[in-house]
Amino acid sequence: MRAVPRYARRDFAIRIAEIIFRNQGIARPPVPAAAVLKGIANVHRFVHPLYPDEDGITLYDTRSFRYDVYLNWQVIRGRRRWTIAHEMGHILLGHLVDFDVNILDDDELFVLDREANIFAAYFLMPRVWIAPLRGQRLSLSFVGTMKDLYGVSWDALIIHLEENGVFVDKPWTNPVTPSSYAS
Ligand SMILES: [Zn+2]
Repeated sequence: MRAVPRYARRDFAIRIAEIIFRNQGIARPPVPAAAVLKGIANVHRFVHPLYPDEDGITLYDTRSFRYDVYLNWQVIRGRRRWTIAHEMGHILLGHLVDFDVNILDDDELFVLDREANIFAAYFLMPRVWIAPLRGQRLSLSFVGTMKDLYGVSWDALIIHLEENGVFVDKPWTNPVTPSSYAS
């Protein structure tokens, strides 16, 4: 077992996300995250009794080398694709194999969750699709169309676009996203 890195391995998470994306030969959005997850894990659309508060939880059986992903299916309506990609990130970044996740503290779990979120963003919104928009300023209605096409939330898409040099015309100046845009 290795020590959890102190900071999220951003480049590593992005590299793995892009390799998985390329290997799937996905031509257009949305990325079929659920189908890809089924290829690497047993997927259960119900909450694990030991983790009732989690959106999703991934368990690894060291004897069978088998992953089981439990998704809190009703609770995560509206963010299922993200939750699925997040759990995929934990698996494909090797978190359950490289680290003893049962003994990690909150700071260490935070780093691994951050890595899984970076994976999710770059897997669901691959740079190859975003790159042509770099340097542009997009209207909110255009971004809304993209959001529906990609099957991600406003927040996830806008943060990702701005991180990748695409500007979004937002009608608000408050850094807190209005709840009407947070779906
Ligand atoms: Zn997580």
